[in-house]
Amino acid sequence: MASKEDEQFKVMDLNRNCPVCGAPLIMIYKSHYLTYYGGIFIMTIKCTRCNFRITDILAISEFGENKEKYSIKIDKDHISDLLVISGGALVQIPEMGLELTFSTSGGEITTVEGILFEMKKNVEIMAKDAPSEKLKKILEVLDSEIKSPTGKLTLELIDNNKKSVVIPYAIWTHRAESERESNHTNDRREALEKKALRMITENFDEKIR
Ligand SMILES: [Zn+2]
Repeated sequence: MASKEDEQFKVMDLNRNCPVCGAPLIMIYKSHYLTYYGGIFIMTIKCTRCNFRITDILAISEFGENKEKYSIKIDKDHISDLLVISGGALVQIPEMGLELTFSTSGGEITTVEGILFEMKKNVEIMAKDAPSEKLKKILEVLDSEIKSPTGKLTLELIDNNKKSVVIPYAIWTHRAESERESNHTNDRREALEKKALRMITENFDEKIR
């Protein structure tokens, strides 16, 4: 999904001051352009003096807004779908009452399989503290679904800010093939970076509160 250029981090002055100590803030960021979707923007805002920092991820579609809620069947076709999870979003498997919340100062990029592993790890910790038949059963189901997803479980990604998205495997693994396509990609990525920077600066004062 990434060309060489994609992988470089850029640094910019944010023209804002640290809410803790008042020193200037900088932003370190990079973006990935995905044909048929748009851009994924990964950034860290940090203080040039103290330890203040915010990390976040935004998914910006070229085809209108993201949805507030994505709901997919956990089966063989979707187990490798990409989840771009922005800070403050929630992932759940309603059939088993499992959920993962993401702090407002940190998102994550993972796959459906990655989420199952993360949930399994959490349940294992709970089961160690307070073993029960119910947790044992949940672990068995998670294990078997990771090995061979049947489609009986649903994964829901919920983000009221509409900055998160589920991207099908075929789209996130698509590479720009022709030169024409890769030129187009660079132009589109620049446009999306500008849009992301605008969203971040506009929301900044709200976000650090
Ligand atoms: Zn500071």
